[in-house]
Amino acid sequence: METLRKINEVVQRANIHARGTSLRQRKRRDLTRPSAKWIAPARVGREQGTALAVVLSTIGCAHALSDAGGCTMCSYLLDGVQEQPTSEQIVAQFKSAMMELDMKNGPLSVKIYTSGSFLDSNEIPVEARSKILGIIAKDDRIREVVLESRPEYINDSTLSDIRSILGDRIIEIGMGLESASDVIRTVCINKNFDLKMFKDALKTAKKFNIGIRAYVLLKPPFLTERDAIFDAISTIKEARALGVTTVSLNPVNVQKDTLVEKLWMKGNYRPPWLWSVLEVLRDATLSSDRWMKVVCDPVAAGKKRGTHNCGKCDNNVAEAIRQFSLNQNPNALQNLSCDCISQWKHILNHEDFSLIIHR
Ligand code: SF4
Ligand SMILES: [Zn+2]
Repeated sequence: METLRKINEVVQRANIHARGTSLRQRKRRDLTRPSAKWIAPARVGREQGTALAVVLSTIGCAHALSDAGGCTMCSYLLDGVQEQPTSEQIVAQFKSAMMELDMKNGPLSVKIYTSGSFLDSNEIPVEARSKILGIIAKDDRIREVVLESRPEYINDSTLSDIRSILGDRIIEIGMGLESASDVIRTVCINKNFDLKMFKDALKTAKKFNIGIRAYVLLKPPFLTERDAIFDAISTIKEARALGVTTVSLNPVNVQKDTLVEKLWMKGNYRPPWLWSVLEVLRDATLSSDRWMKVVCDPVAAGKKRGTHNCGKCDNNVAEAIRQFSLNQNPNALQNLSCDCISQWKHILNHEDFSLIIHR
């Protein structure tokens, strides 16, 4: 444990160094407008519907603002604002996003993101949270609500409030489990919580019939392509055994002013291959019990900062992944091929060996 703590301290220092002065350069924004909002077709419960996603502009993730320096791949904090918006301003942000749903037929899903945790009352005051959920509660088209939070903010009293405001709607809380391995989550990601905290939060959520959407990271830094695949596969198995309702597989994309970006710029990191994403998803469908959904909407797919293959096949593979996420049909992941598969397989077989020889 002592060794793990010491390695983690080194990673935290490198992480903070990678961020440099970027935090002080955060843009001034209109505090009554969200950072982003979009609508897209989505699976809502067992039906096809529409999802609104809104990213509220807040001061950002407490973990990233702390001396621990946040996660090694995440620059969400840079989307945040320097001064804390008032409750009224946060509610105004949400109302402006809700206008996207005017004239849309149900079933609808509303996903509320921040650059941190919706359930952290320092980031989203309780008054703002209650008003936002109250707006949702008045809209009968909305059947599903997805919120995001780190596990330390999940407790009986908060979840009881949420359940009583939202009634019998499907509720999911997205939590970044990232890896089931405490060592990988600590050393490679600097997540700052252990598996036990995740399990406790999940148990609390179950008491209120609230599902957990586990974010699983594919290819944190310091892992080879093959080890990254193994880790994601075993994490999904663990998530299923724990009883999460959805797994969202997130291939790392290289975000600005992060440790991952520094490693990438020095040629010491490559985002995962799209073939690796497929491999993990295929494995997840093999052991699927149809109870747990598995989704993946890769950011920057096909771009050099995102999960990518050779350039020729990227669009096809990324589209297949999106189709699978939408309809949960494993056939969408079959019959994909390209010459670059042999290069990917070569990397899986020889990367560790080549690291030993060349570094
Ligand atoms: S990944 Fe989540 S917990 Fe980690 S720094 Fe980003 S917002 Fe915070
Ligand atoms: Zn290819």
